Amino acid sequence: MSEALLSVRGLRSGYGAVEVLRGIDLDVAPGEIVALLGSNGAGKTTFNHTVSALVPARGGSIRFDGEDITGAHYRAVVGRGLLHVPEGRKVFPNLTVRENLELGSFARARARRADNLERVFSIFPRLRERSTQLAGTMSGGEQQMLAIGRGLMGEPRLLILDEPSLGLSPLLVEELFGLIGRLHAEGLAILLVEQNVAQSLEIAQRAYVLENGSVQFSGSSAELLATDRLRQAYLGV
Ligand code: ATP
Repeated sequence: MSEALLSVRGLRSGYGAVEVLRGIDLDVAPGEIVALLGSNGAGKTTFNHTVSALVPARGGSIRFDGEDITGAHYRAVVGRGLLHVPEGRKVFPNLTVRENLELGSFARARARRADNLERVFSIFPRLRERSTQLAGTMSGGEQQMLAIGRGLMGEPRLLILDEPSLGLSPLLVEELFGLIGRLHAEGLAILLVEQNVAQSLEIAQRAYVLENGSVQFSGSSAELLATDRLRQAYLGV
């Protein structure tokens, strides 16, 4: 693997007295898609939130693009190009589609906001058609596209996608995976948490399996698929 874009070592995190992450090591190389798997409550969302500075790290280190960002403010992390598209969409329902997208233009990307908006509209023509519609009145799938579009407005170098296909129809899931493939082809690195494990492993070069706040497996997608126990646990075959 070339030098990591994201390099996490011994990461610990939790809430109050609850310890969730118990020392996680994880790397994402530039332009790589990495799948993060694990059963419910394993700590995937907590990992994503800790890496993107929404939850403070309690130990260990997070390096991004060669710089130590452990303990950095959320804005600083976003400003470096580490963007997190949260689970459950979380768009601003009372703002229009366009306003939601414009809010994704953080400091570094603000000067190129118009160009970025054009790019997002070309990726998601539906968002252009609905640019003046209130986000809260968009369908679930459209809100999910909007959340990803908002992430792209920040000119990410690493995009963390947390359950992007949740609640999407099979057709939209296909579209979403097509989009992820396209962003990858353009050189974007992606950390992907997905319930569609089979499709995730098809598109990801490597995978990590979290269990109970620890890494239980890390390796290529092919290695994971060749491990009977993991294939049974995550694909049921
Ligand atoms: P899922 O696949 O179900 O979304 P996950 O792997 O993303 O699960 P997390 O959401 O990271 O898991 O949760 C890990 C553990 O942390 C769970 O036991 C959960 O109850 C706990 N937890 C998550 N958020 C909080 C919080 N805000 N306060 C207290 N405990 C929390």
